[in-house]
Amino acid sequence: MTMNELGVEPSPLALLLLGQQRDADSERGTSCPGELPAASDPSLVARARAAKAALGDKVFVLGHHYQRDEVIEFADVTGDSFKLAREAAARPEASYVVFCGVHFMAESADILTGNHQQVVLPDLAAGCSMADMATAEQVAEAWDVLTDVGVADVTVPVSYMNSSAAIKAFTGRHGGTICTSSNAEVAMRWALDKGEKVLFLPDQHLGRNTAVLRLGLRLDDCVVWNPRKPNGGLTDEQIRAAKILLWKGHCSVHGRFSRECVDEVRERVPGVTVLVHPECTHEVVTTADLVGSTEFIIRTIEAAPAGSAWAIGTELNLVSRLAKAHPDKTIVFLDKTVCFCSTMNRIDLPHLVWALESLVDGHVVNRIDVDDDTTHFAKVALDQMLALPGN
Ligand code: SF4
Repeated sequence: MTMNELGVEPSPLALLLLGQQRDADSERGTSCPGELPAASDPSLVARARAAKAALGDKVFVLGHHYQRDEVIEFADVTGDSFKLAREAAARPEASYVVFCGVHFMAESADILTGNHQQVVLPDLAAGCSMADMATAEQVAEAWDVLTDVGVADVTVPVSYMNSSAAIKAFTGRHGGTICTSSNAEVAMRWALDKGEKVLFLPDQHLGRNTAVLRLGLRLDDCVVWNPRKPNGGLTDEQIRAAKILLWKGHCSVHGRFSRECVDEVRERVPGVTVLVHPECTHEVVTTADLVGSTEFIIRTIEAAPAGSAWAIGTELNLVSRLAKAHPDKTIVFLDKTVCFCSTMNRIDLPHLVWALESLVDGHVVNRIDVDDDTTHFAKVALDQMLALPGN
């Protein structure tokens, strides 16, 4: 399946800019310290196989749905971030968990796995721009403002899985819950039963789409908290009146889809059904035919009849794998230009080979190790999610 067959053209621009600083707590911008094999090395596949075989049950390789095919081929299990973290926790015999995904996912795996298990992220520059949009300091400042305005006691934080361990710990400390794109509705209903307001972190689009389309709230029940402005850019009255405080964060990949993409694909592909992820903007989600999580998208395509036509608004590696797996259906990408998650794509075969061969040699490289206090409170918030109805 070529990009043109999916209806996309190469973009001249990188979608996310990567810095070079060495900040292991950042979601991106950390360069790889290792001596990587050359991408042109013809023995990479054989080397990856040999290293995995040598490690046996001691290693468990997780592959997120948005990873490249060359990496997915070596995954013991594929899934979304939460499913992968739980799979890792269910393999206590694996001393090493190699997470082919991004930084916050590896942190979640470290939080949920035992102390004897070590989590490795093959390239530390594989971060998530959305998770980076809410830092612990910014969120603590916002909470101070809510306290001064007198609403912190009635505000319940709900944080998307796509957030740093520090944000998850903040959520646990303040009686909130984590959510995924599959259970955001249940999490938000639970929070509004418990308090009067929700502070939804860090994806404003998932928060708004859930509040308006699932809970039936009005758009003006939601306000956007801009961490770069004093008081979040809001007046005290706006903060008091709001039911949902949406953190000003978004996914750089899903945020690229526009209403024009939807209109254009409907003209281009007769009878097409437009299926998008809830990290897309409210305008895109309300223009599309169906909206749902990555797992929902996969299930919907698997259940679709032969001959049906689909335009999918999510990360391109996943869309192209779905198109390959379902040649009896027409599957096109919603945008006209390439829309990979460039930080997910940092994990490639050379990095995976380097990480696995280092483990064979007895060196744990790029370990993601969340401190005990953060782990404790992040787990409180993750456990709260597991206790929500339907989980
Ligand atoms: S697709 Fe978006 S939310 Fe997912 S890792 Fe990439 S930037 Fe983050």
